[in-house]
Amino acid sequence: MRKVIFLHSPRFWQQSFGPNHPLRGERLQRTYELLDEYRAFEPENVQVITPTPPSEGELALFHTQEYIDAVRSLSKGETHIPSARYGFGPGDNPVFTGMFESSGLKVGSALRGAKLLANLECEIAFSYSGGTHHAGPALASGFCIFNDAAVAIHWLIDQGLRIAYVDIDVHHGDGVQDAFYATDKVLTISLHQSGRTLFPGTGFVDEIGVDEGEGYSVNIPLPPYTDDEIYLWAFQQTVPPLVERFKPDILVTQLGVDTHYFDPLARLALTTHGHKALFEELSRLSSRWLALGGGGYDIDVVPRSWTLAFGIMSGQSFPEELPPDYQAKYGGKWLEDHQSPRIDENVKRLTRRSVEEIVNHARELHGLV
Ligand SMILES: [Zn+2]
Repeated sequence: MRKVIFLHSPRFWQQSFGPNHPLRGERLQRTYELLDEYRAFEPENVQVITPTPPSEGELALFHTQEYIDAVRSLSKGETHIPSARYGFGPGDNPVFTGMFESSGLKVGSALRGAKLLANLECEIAFSYSGGTHHAGPALASGFCIFNDAAVAIHWLIDQGLRIAYVDIDVHHGDGVQDAFYATDKVLTISLHQSGRTLFPGTGFVDEIGVDEGEGYSVNIPLPPYTDDEIYLWAFQQTVPPLVERFKPDILVTQLGVDTHYFDPLARLALTTHGHKALFEELSRLSSRWLALGGGGYDIDVVPRSWTLAFGIMSGQSFPEELPPDYQAKYGGKWLEDHQSPRIDENVKRLTRRSVEEIVNHARELHGLV
């Protein structure tokens, strides 16, 4: 049984961008509560650890000092800062009081996981609050203020470790790709709904890295209506052979579950069965695994999918019927989906053909054929 750390603080649940913003603290609260109701934190190989904030120097592993100072000032309510210059504003990234501390703690959480893994104190660390993969060195973007993945990976490569980063969020992992675009020490792979039809508009197959990093950025952009079967085929054709060839010391993953067909912000068509199969694949690929959370905006899906993820990480299988108290509080009956999306056969055929072309192109570019 692998030793698994779950990185948790109730501070992750606090309302952040505001009550009408899709990134609600309740997503994480329900995930924790569902795991707790299933007694998922009780086995001997599982430990819950509360993270601490990162130091300024740690934030500066990826972010500029100017940006760190600006976020701190804006977070205190100071109004003289030109917030729009740093990506803040109404819509995706509104300024809110305490945002320095709350987004900082997510970075501290990923870093704690990275350190435990580097010191061989656990085999898997799940920082479920994280996966803020869009933030740039001096830019808030796509609900992300600090980039926990980029900071943690910078810390890990500074220890001399080789890192493979696999991002299964429905949105392209642009911030992490850009952070390591010119280095061969980090392999980044992102599968996502194509930038033609979804934010952030990047992540095309021909984005393969530059200079020493050429060949170390991999993108699999998928058309709307890609379902479990087609997604898993695309994943199998690319991720295992690339990760196995790269031989990372630590696998870092962004486990966004906004690929689900219920998700209100995107148009892929996965179910929890597809999510579970992906988590199993990632688990098989990793000897040491830093798992970060990510997107997912259907409040009934996120807790169930990440509970399935944690079950795979920690070697537990949970009863198929949701715990009675959880059902009473939030509704729903089953841990896994009992329905699947209805996709027209013609659409499915066209989707499959398009994904085959994309995957074959990516395999050629990355020397897999
Ligand atoms: Zn996302």
